[in-house]
Amino acid sequence: VTIRRVLIANRGEIAVRIIRACHELGMEAVAIYSDADEQALHVKLADHAVRVGPPSAAKSYLSIEAVLGAAREMNVAAVHPGYGFLSENARFAREVIAAGFIWVGPAPDIIELMGDKAAAREAAMQAGLPVVRGTGIVEDVSVAASAAAALGYPVLLKAAAGGGGRGIRRVDSEAGLEEAFAQAQREVVAAFGETGLYLEKALLDVRHVEIQVLADSQGGVIHLFERDCSLQRRRQKLIEETPAPLLSGDCREAMCTAAVKLARSVGYTSAGTVEFLVDEDESFYFIEMNTRIQVEHGISEMLTGIDLVRHQLLIAYGEPLGIDQEDVVSAGAVIEIRINAEDPDNGFMGSPGRLELCRFAAGPGVRIDSGVEQESEIQPFYDSMIAKVMVHAEDRPAAIARALRALAETHIEGVQTTVRFGSRVLATPEFRDGRYSTSTIERLLEEWAG
Ligand code: ADP
Ligand code: ADP
Ligand code: MG
Repeated sequence: VTIRRVLIANRGEIAVRIIRACHELGMEAVAIYSDADEQALHVKLADHAVRVGPPSAAKSYLSIEAVLGAAREMNVAAVHPGYGFLSENARFAREVIAAGFIWVGPAPDIIELMGDKAAAREAAMQAGLPVVRGTGIVEDVSVAASAAAALGYPVLLKAAAGGGGRGIRRVDSEAGLEEAFAQAQREVVAAFGETGLYLEKALLDVRHVEIQVLADSQGGVIHLFERDCSLQRRRQKLIEETPAPLLSGDCREAMCTAAVKLARSVGYTSAGTVEFLVDEDESFYFIEMNTRIQVEHGISEMLTGIDLVRHQLLIAYGEPLGIDQEDVVSAGAVIEIRINAEDPDNGFMGSPGRLELCRFAAGPGVRIDSGVEQESEIQPFYDSMIAKVMVHAEDRPAAIARALRALAETHIEGVQTTVRFGSRVLATPEFRDGRYSTSTIERLLEEWAG
Protein backbone atom coordinates (compact mmCIF):
# COMPACT_ATOMS: atom_id res chain seq x y z
CA VAL A 1 0.00 0.00 0.00
CA THR A 2 0.90 3.60 -0.51
CA ILE A 3 0.90 4.78 3.08
CA ARG A 4 -0.45 8.27 2.57
CA ARG A 5 -2.93 7.65 -0.22
CA VAL A 6 -6.63 8.06 0.51
CA LEU A 7 -9.58 6.91 -1.56
CA ILE A 8 -12.54 9.28 -1.36
CA ALA A 9 -15.68 7.22 -1.73
CA ASN A 10 -17.90 10.15 -2.66
CA ARG A 11 -18.51 12.98 -5.15
CA GLY A 12 -19.43 16.65 -5.21
CA GLU A 13 -18.48 19.25 -2.66
CA ILE A 14 -17.63 16.78 0.11
CA ALA A 15 -15.20 14.90 -2.15
CA VAL A 16 -13.53 18.24 -2.94
CA ARG A 17 -13.45 19.10 0.76
CA ILE A 18 -11.69 15.83 1.62
CA ILE A 19 -9.22 16.16 -1.27
CA ARG A 20 -8.21 19.55 0.15
CA ALA A 21 -7.61 18.10 3.60
CA CYS A 22 -5.54 15.27 2.09
CA HIS A 23 -3.39 17.71 0.17
CA GLU A 24 -2.78 19.90 3.19
CA LEU A 25 -1.60 16.79 5.06
CA GLY A 26 0.70 15.79 2.22
CA MET A 27 -1.55 12.84 1.39
CA GLU A 28 -2.53 11.75 -2.10
CA ALA A 29 -6.22 11.80 -2.97
CA VAL A 30 -7.85 9.20 -5.19
CA ALA A 31 -11.27 10.12 -6.56
CA ILE A 32 -13.94 7.77 -7.83
CA TYR A 33 -16.47 8.74 -10.49
CA SER A 34 -19.45 7.44 -12.38
CA ASP A 35 -19.77 7.97 -16.13
CA ALA A 36 -21.86 11.07 -15.41
CA ASP A 37 -19.02 12.63 -13.38
CA GLU A 38 -16.06 12.10 -15.69
CA GLN A 39 -15.63 15.90 -16.01
CA ALA A 40 -16.52 16.71 -12.40
CA LEU A 41 -14.44 19.03 -10.23
CA HIS A 42 -13.56 16.37 -7.67
CA VAL A 43 -12.04 14.26 -10.45
CA LYS A 44 -9.94 17.19 -11.66
CA LEU A 45 -8.66 18.08 -8.20
CA ALA A 46 -7.70 14.54 -7.19
CA ASP A 47 -4.29 13.04 -7.90
CA HIS A 48 -5.86 9.94 -9.44
CA ALA A 49 -9.36 8.97 -10.39
CA VAL A 50 -11.03 5.62 -10.97
CA ARG A 51 -14.28 4.99 -12.82
CA VAL A 52 -16.66 2.95 -10.69
CA GLY A 53 -19.65 2.52 -12.96
CA PRO A 54 -22.61 4.00 -14.83
CA PRO A 55 -24.49 7.12 -13.65
CA SER A 56 -26.90 5.23 -11.40
CA ALA A 57 -25.63 5.66 -7.83
CA ALA A 58 -26.62 2.09 -7.00
CA LYS A 59 -24.19 0.86 -9.65
CA SER A 60 -21.37 3.29 -8.89
CA TYR A 61 -20.99 5.28 -5.65
CA LEU A 62 -23.15 2.79 -3.74
CA SER A 63 -21.49 -0.31 -5.13
CA ILE A 64 -19.30 -1.74 -2.37
CA GLU A 65 -17.66 -4.05 -4.87
CA ALA A 66 -16.80 -1.27 -7.31
CA VAL A 67 -15.54 1.11 -4.62
CA LEU A 68 -13.39 -1.57 -2.97
CA GLY A 69 -12.10 -2.54 -6.39
CA ALA A 70 -10.94 1.04 -6.93
CA ALA A 71 -9.22 1.07 -3.53
CA ARG A 72 -7.36 -2.14 -4.37
CA GLU A 73 -6.45 -1.03 -7.85
CA MET A 74 -4.94 2.20 -6.52
CA ASN A 75 -3.22 0.60 -3.57
CA VAL A 76 -4.63 3.16 -1.17
CA ALA A 77 -4.02 3.08 2.57
CA ALA A 78 -7.31 4.61 3.72
CA VAL A 79 -10.92 5.17 2.64
CA HIS A 80 -12.89 8.30 3.54
CA PRO A 81 -16.61 7.89 2.88
CA GLY A 82 -17.79 11.53 3.21
CA TYR A 83 -21.54 11.79 3.94
CA GLY A 84 -24.48 10.06 2.30
CA PHE A 85 -23.75 7.10 -0.01
CA LEU A 86 -21.86 4.38 1.92
CA SER A 87 -20.81 6.56 4.86
CA GLU A 88 -23.20 4.96 7.35
CA ASN A 89 -23.08 1.48 5.90
CA ALA A 90 -21.53 -0.75 8.57
CA ARG A 91 -21.04 -3.59 6.10
CA PHE A 92 -18.99 -1.32 3.86
CA ALA A 93 -16.89 -0.16 6.80
CA ARG A 94 -16.27 -3.78 7.80
CA GLU A 95 -15.26 -4.77 4.28
CA VAL A 96 -12.92 -1.79 4.02
CA ILE A 97 -11.22 -2.87 7.23
CA ALA A 98 -11.21 -6.56 6.28
CA ALA A 99 -9.50 -5.65 3.00
CA GLY A 100 -6.70 -4.08 5.00
CA PHE A 101 -7.54 -0.40 4.53
CA ILE A 102 -7.87 2.25 7.21
CA TRP A 103 -11.49 3.28 7.66
CA VAL A 104 -11.86 7.03 8.19
CA GLY A 105 -14.78 6.89 10.59
CA PRO A 106 -15.96 5.28 13.79
CA ALA A 107 -15.89 1.52 14.36
CA PRO A 108 -18.43 -0.44 12.28
CA ASP A 109 -20.22 -1.64 15.43
CA ILE A 110 -20.89 1.95 16.41
CA ILE A 111 -22.11 2.83 12.92
CA GLU A 112 -24.46 -0.12 13.20
CA LEU A 113 -25.66 0.82 16.68
CA MET A 114 -26.38 4.45 15.81
CA GLY A 115 -27.65 3.57 12.32
CA ASP A 116 -30.55 1.83 14.05
CA LYS A 117 -32.27 4.91 15.42
CA ALA A 118 -34.36 2.90 17.89
CA ALA A 119 -31.21 1.26 19.29
CA ALA A 120 -29.51 4.68 19.36
CA ARG A 121 -32.32 5.99 21.58
CA GLU A 122 -31.64 3.08 23.94
CA ALA A 123 -27.93 3.86 23.99
CA ALA A 124 -28.66 7.52 24.69
CA MET A 125 -31.00 6.62 27.56
CA GLN A 126 -28.39 4.29 28.99
CA ALA A 127 -25.88 7.11 28.91
CA GLY A 128 -28.37 9.21 30.87
CA LEU A 129 -29.45 11.52 28.06
CA PRO A 130 -33.03 12.77 27.80
CA VAL A 131 -34.72 11.36 24.69
CA VAL A 132 -38.01 12.34 23.03
CA ARG A 133 -40.84 10.29 24.54
CA GLY A 134 -41.32 7.33 22.28
CA THR A 135 -41.06 3.60 21.77
CA GLY A 136 -38.75 0.85 20.63
CA ILE A 137 -39.59 -0.98 17.41
CA VAL A 138 -43.38 -1.41 17.12
CA GLU A 139 -44.16 -4.78 15.56
CA ASP A 140 -47.65 -4.08 14.24
CA VAL A 141 -50.43 -1.52 14.01
CA SER A 142 -52.18 -2.53 17.20
CA VAL A 143 -49.01 -2.12 19.25
CA ALA A 144 -48.42 1.21 17.50
CA ALA A 145 -51.98 2.33 18.22
CA SER A 146 -51.79 1.70 21.95
CA ALA A 147 -48.34 3.30 22.16
CA ALA A 148 -49.54 6.34 20.20
CA ALA A 149 -52.57 6.70 22.45
CA ALA A 150 -50.29 6.68 25.48
CA LEU A 151 -47.95 9.25 23.93
CA GLY A 152 -50.81 11.41 22.68
CA TYR A 153 -51.17 12.57 19.07
CA PRO A 154 -49.56 13.94 16.99
CA VAL A 155 -46.82 11.32 16.80
CA LEU A 156 -44.06 10.62 14.32
CA LEU A 157 -43.66 7.21 12.79
CA LYS A 158 -39.96 6.78 12.08
CA ALA A 159 -37.95 4.20 10.21
CA ALA A 160 -35.12 2.90 12.39
CA ALA A 161 -32.82 2.92 9.35
CA GLY A 162 -34.05 6.28 8.03
CA GLY A 163 -31.89 9.30 7.29
CA GLY A 164 -31.61 12.43 5.20
CA GLY A 165 -35.07 13.52 6.37
CA ARG A 166 -36.67 10.45 4.82
CA GLY A 167 -38.57 7.66 6.52
CA ILE A 168 -40.49 9.95 8.88
CA ARG A 169 -44.25 10.35 8.82
CA ARG A 170 -46.47 12.46 11.04
CA VAL A 171 -49.69 10.91 12.28
CA ASP A 172 -52.32 13.23 13.74
CA SER A 173 -54.93 10.80 14.96
CA GLU A 174 -55.69 7.15 15.46
CA ALA A 175 -57.81 7.23 12.29
CA GLY A 176 -54.71 7.91 10.21
CA LEU A 177 -52.45 5.41 11.90
CA GLU A 178 -53.33 2.21 10.09
CA GLU A 179 -52.80 3.65 6.65
CA ALA A 180 -49.66 5.53 7.69
CA PHE A 181 -48.19 2.38 9.17
CA ALA A 182 -48.82 0.32 6.04
CA GLN A 183 -47.52 3.05 3.74
CA ALA A 184 -44.45 3.63 5.86
CA GLN A 185 -43.63 -0.06 5.88
CA ARG A 186 -43.82 -0.23 2.09
CA GLU A 187 -41.84 2.95 1.44
CA VAL A 188 -39.25 2.31 4.04
CA VAL A 189 -38.39 -1.16 2.79
CA ALA A 190 -37.96 0.25 -0.71
CA ALA A 191 -35.66 3.04 0.52
CA PHE A 192 -33.69 1.46 3.34
CA GLY A 193 -34.23 -2.31 3.12
CA GLU A 194 -35.49 -4.36 6.06
CA THR A 195 -36.09 -1.99 8.94
CA GLY A 196 -38.39 -1.53 11.89
CA LEU A 197 -40.63 1.42 12.69
CA TYR A 198 -40.76 3.27 16.00
CA LEU A 199 -42.82 6.12 17.40
CA GLU A 200 -41.92 9.48 18.88
CA LYS A 201 -44.14 12.15 20.27
CA ALA A 202 -44.17 14.95 17.65
CA LEU A 203 -42.74 18.01 19.35
CA LEU A 204 -44.09 21.31 18.06
CA ASP A 205 -42.22 24.60 17.79
CA VAL A 206 -38.89 23.08 18.59
CA ARG A 207 -35.41 23.85 17.40
CA HIS A 208 -32.98 21.36 15.96
CA VAL A 209 -29.71 21.92 17.78
CA GLU A 210 -26.84 19.49 17.31
CA ILE A 211 -23.45 19.09 18.93
CA GLN A 212 -20.29 18.35 16.97
CA VAL A 213 -17.99 15.89 18.66
CA LEU A 214 -14.49 14.72 17.78
CA ALA A 215 -12.88 11.71 19.44
CA ASP A 216 -9.56 9.93 19.03
CA SER A 217 -8.69 6.30 19.66
CA GLN A 218 -6.81 7.12 22.87
CA GLY A 219 -9.98 8.16 24.67
CA GLY A 220 -9.77 11.87 23.95
CA VAL A 221 -13.23 13.38 23.30
CA ILE A 222 -14.02 17.04 22.68
CA HIS A 223 -17.01 18.97 21.38
CA LEU A 224 -17.01 21.93 19.01
CA PHE A 225 -20.19 23.50 20.38
CA GLU A 226 -23.56 23.48 18.65
CA ARG A 227 -25.20 24.21 15.32
CA ASP A 228 -28.78 25.35 14.95
CA CYS A 229 -30.25 23.52 11.95
CA SER A 230 -33.92 24.32 12.51
CA LEU A 231 -34.41 25.93 9.12
CA GLN A 232 -35.57 22.91 7.20
CA ARG A 233 -37.95 22.01 4.43
CA ARG A 234 -39.36 18.49 4.54
CA ARG A 235 -36.96 17.74 7.39
CA GLN A 236 -33.96 18.64 5.24
CA LYS A 237 -31.68 21.38 6.43
CA LEU A 238 -31.37 24.53 4.31
CA ILE A 239 -29.68 27.11 6.53
CA GLU A 240 -27.54 26.46 9.59
CA GLU A 241 -25.80 28.69 12.08
CA THR A 242 -23.58 28.67 15.12
CA PRO A 243 -23.86 29.74 17.90
CA ALA A 244 -27.56 28.86 18.08
CA PRO A 245 -29.33 32.20 18.54
CA LEU A 246 -31.06 32.82 21.88
CA LEU A 247 -29.73 29.61 23.40
CA SER A 248 -28.71 30.15 27.01
CA GLY A 249 -25.18 29.36 28.12
CA ASP A 250 -26.50 26.81 30.61
CA CYS A 251 -28.45 24.92 27.98
CA ARG A 252 -25.51 24.97 25.56
CA GLU A 253 -23.21 23.60 28.21
CA ALA A 254 -25.64 20.90 29.26
CA MET A 255 -26.08 19.73 25.66
CA CYS A 256 -22.35 19.72 24.96
CA THR A 257 -21.74 17.72 28.12
CA ALA A 258 -24.48 15.26 27.19
CA ALA A 259 -23.05 14.76 23.69
CA VAL A 260 -19.56 14.09 25.01
CA LYS A 261 -20.99 11.70 27.58
CA LEU A 262 -22.76 9.71 24.86
CA ALA A 263 -19.65 9.62 22.69
CA ARG A 264 -17.62 8.35 25.62
CA SER A 265 -20.18 5.80 26.68
CA VAL A 266 -20.23 4.09 23.27
CA GLY A 267 -16.46 4.40 22.71
CA TYR A 268 -16.90 6.73 19.78
CA THR A 269 -13.99 7.73 17.55
CA SER A 270 -13.74 10.23 14.65
CA ALA A 271 -16.11 13.13 13.98
CA GLY A 272 -19.76 12.68 14.89
CA THR A 273 -22.89 14.67 15.56
CA VAL A 274 -25.39 14.28 18.35
CA GLU A 275 -28.75 15.74 17.32
CA PHE A 276 -31.25 17.16 19.79
CA LEU A 277 -34.58 18.95 19.72
CA VAL A 278 -34.88 21.90 22.09
CA ASP A 279 -38.26 23.21 23.24
CA GLU A 280 -39.29 26.69 24.34
CA ASP A 281 -38.32 25.99 27.95
CA GLU A 282 -34.89 24.85 26.80
CA SER A 283 -35.55 21.26 27.68
CA PHE A 284 -33.60 19.21 25.18
CA TYR A 285 -34.10 15.70 23.84
CA PHE A 286 -31.78 13.39 21.91
CA ILE A 287 -33.10 12.33 18.48
CA GLU A 288 -30.16 10.63 16.77
CA MET A 289 -26.42 10.48 16.25
CA ASN A 290 -24.82 10.80 12.81
CA THR A 291 -21.64 8.75 12.64
CA ARG A 292 -19.92 10.68 9.86
CA ILE A 293 -18.81 14.08 8.77
CA GLN A 294 -21.90 16.22 8.30
CA VAL A 295 -22.85 18.60 5.50
CA GLU A 296 -22.80 21.59 7.86
CA HIS A 297 -19.47 20.73 9.56
CA GLY A 298 -17.78 23.77 8.00
CA ILE A 299 -19.54 26.31 10.22
CA SER A 300 -18.09 24.67 13.33
CA GLU A 301 -14.68 24.77 11.67
CA MET A 302 -15.03 28.49 11.05
CA LEU A 303 -16.28 29.14 14.58
CA THR A 304 -13.45 27.28 16.30
CA GLY A 305 -10.63 27.24 13.74
CA ILE A 306 -10.44 23.43 14.07
CA ASP A 307 -10.26 21.46 10.82
CA LEU A 308 -12.59 18.50 11.33
CA VAL A 309 -11.67 16.60 8.18
CA ARG A 310 -7.95 16.95 8.88
CA HIS A 311 -8.54 15.54 12.35
CA GLN A 312 -10.69 12.72 11.00
CA LEU A 313 -7.77 11.65 8.83
CA LEU A 314 -5.19 12.01 11.61
CA ILE A 315 -7.38 10.11 14.06
CA ALA A 316 -7.89 7.32 11.53
CA TYR A 317 -4.11 7.06 11.22
CA GLY A 318 -3.99 6.59 15.00
CA GLU A 319 -2.86 10.01 16.11
CA PRO A 320 -4.10 11.53 19.35
CA LEU A 321 -6.30 14.61 19.08
CA GLY A 322 -3.86 16.91 20.79
CA ILE A 323 -6.64 19.41 21.60
CA ASP A 324 -8.02 19.92 25.09
CA GLN A 325 -11.59 21.10 25.54
CA GLU A 326 -10.32 24.36 27.06
CA ASP A 327 -8.52 25.06 23.79
CA VAL A 328 -11.75 24.96 21.80
CA VAL A 329 -12.90 28.54 21.64
CA SER A 330 -16.00 29.85 19.94
CA ALA A 331 -15.38 33.15 18.18
CA GLY A 332 -18.02 35.30 16.48
CA ALA A 333 -20.95 33.95 14.47
CA VAL A 334 -21.17 31.74 11.39
CA ILE A 335 -24.04 31.14 8.96
CA GLU A 336 -24.35 28.64 6.13
CA ILE A 337 -26.78 28.70 3.23
CA ARG A 338 -27.02 25.54 1.16
CA ILE A 339 -27.20 26.24 -2.57
CA ASN A 340 -29.28 23.56 -4.26
CA ALA A 341 -29.97 23.22 -7.97
CA GLU A 342 -33.70 23.42 -7.34
CA ASP A 343 -36.49 25.75 -8.33
CA PRO A 344 -38.11 27.32 -5.24
CA ASP A 345 -40.88 28.74 -7.45
CA ASN A 346 -41.75 25.28 -8.58
CA GLY A 347 -41.95 23.20 -5.44
CA PHE A 348 -38.16 22.95 -5.19
CA MET A 349 -38.10 20.68 -8.19
CA GLY A 350 -34.60 19.54 -9.13
CA SER A 351 -33.07 21.68 -11.88
CA PRO A 352 -30.29 19.79 -13.66
CA GLY A 353 -28.34 21.32 -16.53
CA ARG A 354 -25.13 23.06 -17.52
CA LEU A 355 -23.82 25.97 -15.45
CA GLU A 356 -23.51 28.67 -18.10
CA LEU A 357 -22.29 31.06 -15.47
CA CYS A 358 -20.94 30.17 -12.05
CA ARG A 359 -19.42 32.93 -9.99
CA PHE A 360 -19.21 32.57 -6.23
CA ALA A 361 -18.70 35.20 -3.59
CA ALA A 362 -15.34 35.86 -2.00
CA GLY A 363 -13.82 38.46 0.29
CA PRO A 364 -13.62 38.79 4.07
CA GLY A 365 -15.12 35.99 6.11
CA VAL A 366 -16.50 34.02 3.18
CA ARG A 367 -15.96 30.33 2.57
CA ILE A 368 -17.48 28.52 -0.39
CA ASP A 369 -17.43 24.73 -0.42
CA SER A 370 -18.56 23.60 -3.82
CA GLY A 371 -18.30 20.66 -6.16
CA VAL A 372 -18.91 22.64 -9.32
CA GLU A 373 -17.39 25.31 -11.56
CA GLN A 374 -18.45 27.15 -14.69
CA GLU A 375 -19.48 24.69 -17.45
CA SER A 376 -20.12 21.92 -14.91
CA GLU A 377 -23.10 19.77 -15.65
CA ILE A 378 -25.54 19.39 -12.75
CA GLN A 379 -26.55 15.76 -12.89
CA PRO A 380 -30.09 14.59 -12.26
CA PHE A 381 -28.85 11.38 -10.65
CA TYR A 382 -27.56 12.68 -7.33
CA ASP A 383 -28.18 15.11 -4.50
CA SER A 384 -29.16 18.59 -5.69
CA MET A 385 -26.78 20.46 -3.37
CA ILE A 386 -24.06 22.17 -5.41
CA ALA A 387 -22.42 24.53 -2.94
CA LYS A 388 -22.46 25.86 0.60
CA VAL A 389 -22.02 29.54 1.24
CA MET A 390 -20.54 30.01 4.72
CA VAL A 391 -19.75 33.34 6.33
CA HIS A 392 -18.01 34.23 9.55
CA ALA A 393 -18.20 37.62 11.29
CA GLU A 394 -17.68 39.21 14.69
CA ASP A 395 -21.29 38.90 15.75
CA ARG A 396 -24.62 37.67 14.43
CA PRO A 397 -25.88 40.92 12.88
CA ALA A 398 -22.57 41.28 11.01
CA ALA A 399 -22.78 37.66 9.90
CA ILE A 400 -26.29 38.22 8.52
CA ALA A 401 -25.14 41.28 6.59
CA ARG A 402 -22.16 39.35 5.28
CA ALA A 403 -24.31 36.40 4.25
CA LEU A 404 -26.66 38.68 2.33
CA ARG A 405 -23.67 40.32 0.66
CA ALA A 406 -22.20 36.93 -0.26
CA LEU A 407 -25.49 35.72 -1.71
CA ALA A 408 -25.85 38.93 -3.72
CA GLU A 409 -22.40 38.27 -5.21
CA THR A 410 -23.36 34.74 -6.19
CA HIS A 411 -24.27 34.40 -9.87
CA ILE A 412 -25.33 31.06 -11.20
CA GLU A 413 -26.97 30.71 -14.59
CA GLY A 414 -28.13 27.69 -16.50
CA VAL A 415 -30.04 26.07 -13.65
CA GLN A 416 -32.48 27.30 -11.02
CA THR A 417 -31.01 27.63 -7.53
CA THR A 418 -31.96 28.41 -3.96
CA VAL A 419 -29.72 31.52 -3.81
CA ARG A 420 -32.50 34.10 -3.83
CA PHE A 421 -34.66 31.97 -1.58
CA GLY A 422 -31.81 31.97 0.94
CA SER A 423 -31.58 35.77 0.89
CA ARG A 424 -35.29 36.02 1.34
CA VAL A 425 -35.24 33.83 4.43
CA LEU A 426 -32.31 35.74 5.94
CA ALA A 427 -34.23 38.98 5.48
CA THR A 428 -37.28 37.85 7.48
CA PRO A 429 -37.87 39.19 10.99
CA GLU A 430 -37.96 35.59 12.21
CA PHE A 431 -34.38 35.03 11.10
CA ARG A 432 -33.12 38.45 12.13
CA ASP A 433 -34.51 38.00 15.64
CA GLY A 434 -33.30 34.41 15.83
CA ARG A 435 -36.85 33.38 16.68
CA TYR A 436 -37.44 30.39 14.45
CA SER A 437 -38.20 26.69 14.75
CA THR A 438 -38.28 23.61 12.56
CA SER A 439 -41.65 24.73 11.18
CA THR A 440 -40.64 28.29 10.23
CA ILE A 441 -39.61 27.63 6.61
CA GLU A 442 -42.78 25.76 5.78
CA ARG A 443 -44.84 28.53 7.36
CA LEU A 444 -42.96 31.15 5.37
CA LEU A 445 -43.45 29.19 2.16
CA GLU A 446 -47.19 29.06 2.76
CA GLU A 447 -47.24 32.78 3.45
CA TRP A 448 -45.25 33.56 0.30
CA ALA A 449 -47.41 31.28 -1.83
CA GLY A 450 -50.67 32.82 -0.64
P1 ADP B 1 -26.75 16.46 7.35
O1 ADP B 1 -27.17 16.93 8.68
O2 ADP B 1 -25.30 16.19 7.20
O3 ADP B 1 -27.37 17.20 6.24
P2 ADP B 1 -28.50 14.47 6.50
O4 ADP B 1 -29.09 13.43 7.38
O5 ADP B 1 -29.36 15.53 5.96
O6 ADP B 1 -27.34 15.06 7.35
O7 ADP B 1 -27.75 13.72 5.34
C1 ADP B 1 -26.65 14.21 4.64
C2 ADP B 1 -26.56 13.50 3.33
O8 ADP B 1 -26.64 12.12 3.48
C3 ADP B 1 -27.66 13.90 2.39
O9 ADP B 1 -27.09 13.93 1.11
C4 ADP B 1 -28.66 12.76 2.56
O10 ADP B 1 -29.42 12.62 1.37
C5 ADP B 1 -27.76 11.60 2.81
N1 ADP B 1 -28.30 10.56 3.70
C6 ADP B 1 -28.30 10.56 5.04
N2 ADP B 1 -28.79 9.43 5.55
C7 ADP B 1 -29.13 8.67 4.51
C8 ADP B 1 -29.68 7.36 4.38
N3 ADP B 1 -30.00 6.59 5.43
N4 ADP B 1 -29.90 6.90 3.15
C9 ADP B 1 -29.58 7.65 2.08
N5 ADP B 1 -29.04 8.87 2.14
C10 ADP B 1 -28.81 9.38 3.32
P1 ADP C 1 -32.96 11.93 9.90
O1 ADP C 1 -32.33 10.64 10.33
O2 ADP C 1 -33.73 11.80 8.66
O3 ADP C 1 -32.02 13.08 9.95
P2 ADP C 1 -34.09 12.87 12.44
O4 ADP C 1 -34.61 11.91 13.43
O5 ADP C 1 -32.77 13.47 12.68
O6 ADP C 1 -34.10 12.15 11.01
O7 ADP C 1 -35.16 14.02 12.22
C1 ADP C 1 -35.07 14.91 11.15
C2 ADP C 1 -35.88 16.15 11.46
O8 ADP C 1 -37.25 15.81 11.68
C3 ADP C 1 -35.46 16.90 12.70
O9 ADP C 1 -34.41 17.79 12.47
C4 ADP C 1 -36.75 17.61 13.09
O10 ADP C 1 -36.95 18.76 12.30
C5 ADP C 1 -37.80 16.59 12.72
N1 ADP C 1 -38.12 15.72 13.86
C6 ADP C 1 -37.53 14.56 14.18
N2 ADP C 1 -38.06 14.01 15.28
C7 ADP C 1 -39.01 14.87 15.69
C8 ADP C 1 -39.96 14.88 16.78
N3 ADP C 1 -40.02 13.87 17.66
N4 ADP C 1 -40.81 15.92 16.87
C9 ADP C 1 -40.77 16.93 15.99
N5 ADP C 1 -39.93 16.97 14.94
C10 ADP C 1 -39.06 15.97 14.79
MG1 MG D 1 -31.03 13.87 11.61
